[in-house]
Amino acid sequence: MARSDFKVSVTRLGKTPGSRLEVDLSGEISEVFVSSAWVEKGTFSHLRGYLEAVHGGILFTGVAEAEMTTECRRCLRQSKSQLKVEICELFEENYQEDEGDTYPIKGEFVDLGEMVRDALILALPPAPLCGADCKGLCQVCGANLNEVDCGHRDDGIDPRFRILDQLR
Ligand SMILES: [Zn+2]
Ligand SMILES: [Zn+2]
Repeated sequence: MARSDFKVSVTRLGKTPGSRLEVDLSGEISEVFVSSAWVEKGTFSHLRGYLEAVHGGILFTGVAEAEMTTECRRCLRQSKSQLKVEICELFEENYQEDEGDTYPIKGEFVDLGEMVRDALILALPPAPLCGADCKGLCQVCGANLNEVDCGHRDDGIDPRFRILDQLR
């Protein structure tokens, strides 16, 4: 990542444990997606919270938000909704990459972008539905059964498809 809208100078924070720095940032986070949910390219994510000096590092506590697009796994309808996730993560001076559960302090900066991306990806729904009662697509003609009654419902569907849908 060449430039990050989520890079914060921590010189004002100092090293006294307990000192805090407010964070209120917006910017683009790239490549936030799982198979049926994603944050559209060009959409701004927002991060609010505070950095707090702790022994050996800096703790971020706050909330990340972004508008996500989800695709219903039954009828494939796309819709947008707000994704909101609480975050509490540690940035360390002696960061060890292979330990993997913290983030690095880079000189006088912390880059909160990587943390925001990780949190958003984890919060994306793995199998979204447009509604709990979505009727899905007709297995025979492909019609959206939420919108039309194509008449195939009871005479054409192999019952095994229904079981498969329940198992997915
Ligand atoms: Zn649906
Ligand atoms: Zn049909």
